[in-house]
Amino acid sequence: MATNKARNYSLLTIKRLYAMSGNHCAFPDCTQTFLNVDDETNVSNICHIEAAEQGGQRYNPNSDDEYRKSFENLILLCPNHHKVTDNITVYTVEALKEMKRLHEAKFLQIATGQNIITKNPSALNIVIGSLGSSIFGGGNINEPLSAPDPEEKILYNNVVQYKSIIEEYRVYQGRLSKVYEEIEKQGSTKKEFVLLNIRTAYLQEKKKYNGIEEIRANADNIIESVETKLWDIIENSSNPNTHLPIEAIQISLYVVLVDAFMRCSILEEPPKQ
Ligand SMILES: [Zn+2]
Ligand SMILES: [Zn+2]
Repeated sequence: MATNKARNYSLLTIKRLYAMSGNHCAFPDCTQTFLNVDDETNVSNICHIEAAEQGGQRYNPNSDDEYRKSFENLILLCPNHHKVTDNITVYTVEALKEMKRLHEAKFLQIATGQNIITKNPSALNIVIGSLGSSIFGGGNINEPLSAPDPEEKILYNNVVQYKSIIEEYRVYQGRLSKVYEEIEKQGSTKKEFVLLNIRTAYLQEKKKYNGIEEIRANADNIIESVETKLWDIIENSSNPNTHLPIEAIQISLYVVLVDAFMRCSILEEPPKQ
C-alpha cells in the first residue's frame, strides 16, 4: 500500500494513544492487552474512526488528512475487534468516539488515583509555559464578574462526555491558581495568554456552528477540538516535556481546560435570569 498521509502519525499521537489505552483494546469488556512482554509482540491495530482513504469505513470526504491522522480520529483495538467495527451501521463515528472516550476516561481515572499530578508537579508549569508562550489570536479576555454555576453551564451547553472530566478536575482549581500567581509574581502575563489562546481556539471552532442549538448538539466535539489545538501548541513548543509521563501532561491540560471552562473562555455562558 502506498504511504498515506492519513497514516503518517506524529510521535506524540502514538504516545498519547498507547498511554491513554492503558495497554488494552478499547472495545467494551475486551480483555486483550497489546504489548505482550513475554514475546515482545504488539497486537494492537491503530484504527481510523473516519477512514484513512476513500472506500474505507466511515470515510468522510469533507475531512482532511490532518484530522484523519490525529489522536481524535484514532482508536486502538485488537485485530478481532478491529474487524468487528467494520460493521458501520452499528459502529458509527459517534459510537466509536464514545467507545474511545469512555475507555480513555477509565485509564485517566487510574492515573489520577495514583496522584500522578502530585508526583509530577512540573507538568502543570510546562503546560502553562507552552500554552502561554505567545498569543496566537487577538482580542482580550472578559472574565465574567460572577462565574456561572458549573452545573448550570454544563447543562446549558449540553456537555455529556466531558462532564465527568469537568467534575473530576475542578478540584485542582486552587492548585492552578497558585501556579498562576507564582508565574505572575515573576512578572509574566502567562495566565492571560493561556486563557486568550484557549478562547481563540474555541472561537475558531464555534464558527463551524450556527447558534446555541448546534453548539449544544456538538459540545463534546467542540471541547475535543479545542483540546486537539492545545496539544498541537504543546507539541510544537520548545518546552521540554519528554521526561514526563504523558498522563501527567494530559491531566494538567485538563486542569487548565476545565479552569478555562469555569472562567467562560470556552463554551457559552447561560443567560442571566
Ligand atoms: Zn479500521
Ligand atoms: Zn478487543
